[in-house]
Amino acid sequence: MALVVLGAVSCGAGEPSAAPAPATSAPDQEVLTESPTPAPATPSSTGPPAFSSKVSQVTREQLPYSWRPGCPVHYRDLRLVTLTYWGFDDKPHTGELVVRETVTDDIETVFKKLYDWRWPIKQMKLVDAFKADDFDSIEANNTSAFNCRQATGSSNWSNHAYGEAIDINPRENPYVTASGSTAHQNAKKFTERPMNGKGVINPGDKVVKAFAKVGWEWGGYWSGAKDYQHFSKGGG
Ligand SMILES: [Zn+2]
Repeated sequence: MALVVLGAVSCGAGEPSAAPAPATSAPDQEVLTESPTPAPATPSSTGPPAFSSKVSQVTREQLPYSWRPGCPVHYRDLRLVTLTYWGFDDKPHTGELVVRETVTDDIETVFKKLYDWRWPIKQMKLVDAFKADDFDSIEANNTSAFNCRQATGSSNWSNHAYGEAIDINPRENPYVTASGSTAHQNAKKFTERPMNGKGVINPGDKVVKAFAKVGWEWGGYWSGAKDYQHFSKGGG
């Protein structure tokens, strides 16, 4: 019997939270009007947020795959840039890039422009999310910067190993060999230039100009193989 009473008590204890609603019967209607209001109020009345970016130090733990001893730039000279980008879904997103400390201003300047133009980017995660596997990051159409690796088809360090290069929308902007092929099946229809398409970079367009203004050259201007996704400080 005592247990039954306890059960009743605990049942009653659960109810008080619901009880005030009927008790104050007028607010009953308020509850109905209140619940729809907060949802649309915050995002749609203010529109998309303004561009924002933050530069912070990186730890070794944040780069478990992309950095190792012997890399040409120490991780202490790299920075994490957390910034707003405009997505393929026409919505703002927060992305992360790791670049060399000396070029964070360049990156913030260019990506503010891209965001203000609503120029779309598919996704932006550290290459460590793909265990620093360049092929997998590209296959996932991921925009990324630092990766301590050799240049494609070379034994020299890539500019990505210095944190001074970025690959943007690699599916729409593939690395195309001199004979016109790409290693990525999902990029095959994007090997020609110029061409229209969401997130496609073309010769002389505003994306190329925005990077050029801060001294970054486009891989789409290379002779022979073209790297349409690639921008690097000073070229190469
Ligand atoms: Zn690249």
